[in-house]
Amino acid sequence: MGRTDYLDKLNDKQKEAAMYTEGPLLILAGAGSGKTSTMTCRIAYLIREMGVHPYNILAVTFTNKAAKEMRERVQRLIGEGVNMWILTFHSACLRILRRHAEVLGYGRDFAVYDPTDQKTVVKNICKELNIDTKKFSPSYFLGIISHCKEQRISAREYNGIYGTDYKEQMIGQVYDRYEKILKKNNAMDFDDLLLKTVELFEQDEEVLLRYQDRFQYIMVDEYQDTNMIQYAFVRLLADARDRDGNIRRNLCVVGDDDQCIYQWRGADIRNILEFEKDFPGAKTVKLEQNYRSTANILEAAHSVISHNRGRKDKKLWTDAEDGRKIVYYNADDEKDEAYFIASEINRVAGSDHADYRQFAVLYRTNAQSRTFEEALSRRDIPYRVLGGLRYYDRKEIKDMMSYMGLVQNRANDLALVRIINEPKRGVGGKTLQKLQALAQVRGTSLFDVLLDDDVIDSFSAKVSDNLKQLAGLIATYGIEKDNMKISDLYDGLLVNSGYMKALEDQHTVEAEGRLENLMEFKSVIVGYEKEDPNMSLAEFMERIALLADVDNHDSEENAVTLMTLHSAKGLEFPYVFMPGMEDGLFPGWRAFDREDGLEEERRLCYVGITRAKKRLWMTSARTRTIYGRTDYTRESVFLHELDSKLLEGDGIYEKKDRRTEGVFRDGASENVAMKPFDQLKYARAQTKQRAEAMAKANAESFSVGDRVAHSKFGEGTVLEVNGKVIRIEFADQVRKLALGIAPIKKL
Ligand code: ATP
Ligand code: MG
Repeated sequence: MGRTDYLDKLNDKQKEAAMYTEGPLLILAGAGSGKTSTMTCRIAYLIREMGVHPYNILAVTFTNKAAKEMRERVQRLIGEGVNMWILTFHSACLRILRRHAEVLGYGRDFAVYDPTDQKTVVKNICKELNIDTKKFSPSYFLGIISHCKEQRISAREYNGIYGTDYKEQMIGQVYDRYEKILKKNNAMDFDDLLLKTVELFEQDEEVLLRYQDRFQYIMVDEYQDTNMIQYAFVRLLADARDRDGNIRRNLCVVGDDDQCIYQWRGADIRNILEFEKDFPGAKTVKLEQNYRSTANILEAAHSVISHNRGRKDKKLWTDAEDGRKIVYYNADDEKDEAYFIASEINRVAGSDHADYRQFAVLYRTNAQSRTFEEALSRRDIPYRVLGGLRYYDRKEIKDMMSYMGLVQNRANDLALVRIINEPKRGVGGKTLQKLQALAQVRGTSLFDVLLDDDVIDSFSAKVSDNLKQLAGLIATYGIEKDNMKISDLYDGLLVNSGYMKALEDQHTVEAEGRLENLMEFKSVIVGYEKEDPNMSLAEFMERIALLADVDNHDSEENAVTLMTLHSAKGLEFPYVFMPGMEDGLFPGWRAFDREDGLEEERRLCYVGITRAKKRLWMTSARTRTIYGRTDYTRESVFLHELDSKLLEGDGIYEKKDRRTEGVFRDGASENVAMKPFDQLKYARAQTKQRAEAMAKANAESFSVGDRVAHSKFGEGTVLEVNGKVIRIEFADQVRKLALGIAPIKKL
């Protein structure tokens, strides 16, 4: 590729933005106008043409997936490996906190609690405070806590401001306990990551200066959805002074006020609308051509969004052809709706020779996904659900993550509680309570209590043996964690904890499913190792903890995507279905609680429509059963707002079309992404073999001078064997390793 070929692909406006590198810059434009593409080219331009070092660039995206895509595209544009900070807000903050958490009184190896962990903490607090969780669910408290953190209201402040009536007092108490427990566990939740980074910058000027100095060029995608804390973060970094004392502000933000869909989570649309005021001298570039969708789809999007009153009037145009009209189908009920969508996918896949991966079903709430899953699998159409019960929320995955989390950070009491009796070790509620009480009295972690033989010996022989074994396992892996590949550590923990065997002994379908997931998890780990062979356990744990729902998405897999409208932001698909177009569902009831709620839902509808490149379907059901209740429904106001001349056949879809097409594409099942059973069996056998090989190294006698191979460090020579410790000289280092744990074998 010629040096600036990539710039020639941009239109004039886009090029102007990509090449405007100094001072504040706002790219404000509608969906599919190439904002993200422009930002990507701008990074390449900075590096290739302006000679900026990648180290000096910070690009913030909304999801990990977007970050990954951008990194890959920049890589292609500049033709070399880049180790640049193209990250989500959370990941960027986490990296910063890892280095400086001590300033704030945290250990550097602090744990990151995901929503499931948070729920566990709050559940325990409710028990402790005798709160009836049927009346006040953990999610209720967590919602308020999160909201407070977004507004920078601490527990103490909350109790100062509120706390007058019974309910507020209770919330204040829960919030306060919650903060104390997290602190004691050396843990932060997702909101903390942002909050604490901003606090760090405010408290420690030296640290702030260091990052201001580093990030000479800052870019933020989807700026319309930033909240107060994210704004503070960007602002602190961007307000840097150069050597002559002038404010630098090389900040480029990109967004679309029509796509602000996170106000309910504290996103502040003013951040983008007032950018020019906030950063005087800012240049604004508006993009007006849409490159994504057909004219009909774009027209439909515009006809809906123009009903919002509080918006800047703007309209996109396109060179693209009109394309097909939008199909609207009014189903009998949600099953009929799902059946229709599955049939359409098969029909269009056949007639357009389209891959399943080109289709997406975008719904308003996760609860809608199940009926589509059923309808699709009945037709052998492969699909992936993003969100809902996330892969990483499954019990077995959480359990293994807890083992690894405990190895990484022994103070993580929550992880230990989770796995102390997983697999069964005979540790009942009473034993656990006793251990917890001791930890509390002594002011130590729960794990430290496990190391106290006097305490452990007071239990029955079986329990005490089991606990000692568990403590030994965690302690040894804790010492060796940096000397092993994460996949070896995983294999070792999975086998030596007895977790795998316990599942195998069950011989149930459910247990088989869990084993399958555990093997799948290993491929996740191996994938990360390939990407970065030096990734530490801590880094790996973070990456997993931070995976937003949308990141399970593997665009290589040929499957229909099912996801919520919210998580589809920034993505595009040739064929898009928007089911559940009913008042109360979409717009959701939330729209009616708040004054501007309906406008936010309308923006979400705009986001949904503009994901489609070629074709769009909207559906509704006359009756719907959701959360166990069946109701008659009313068509969504958004359907009525949509210009009816854009709808196929006056918006009435002929039912016979779909009932007769059942024979289409008999070969569909060829595409089903099935995992052959043998592959699974093989993976399990391999895991066991690796773990056993490591353990055997214990018995095997190594002697000085032996040549050995280590799975992470390569080949080496034994220098010394002393009991369980072996010292080995590798090509560029000498390491002390623990026999029986270290993944070594004699050559
Ligand atoms: P969204 O608001 O949904 O985030 P966006 O403004 O970020 O959209 P992109 O995702 O960057 O838009 O681009 C939308 C589509 O248009 C992509 O498929 C991209 O490849 C294409 N595109 C962008 N700019 C051009 C261009 N100058 N010529 C041809 N195609 C383009
Ligand atoms: Mg974008």
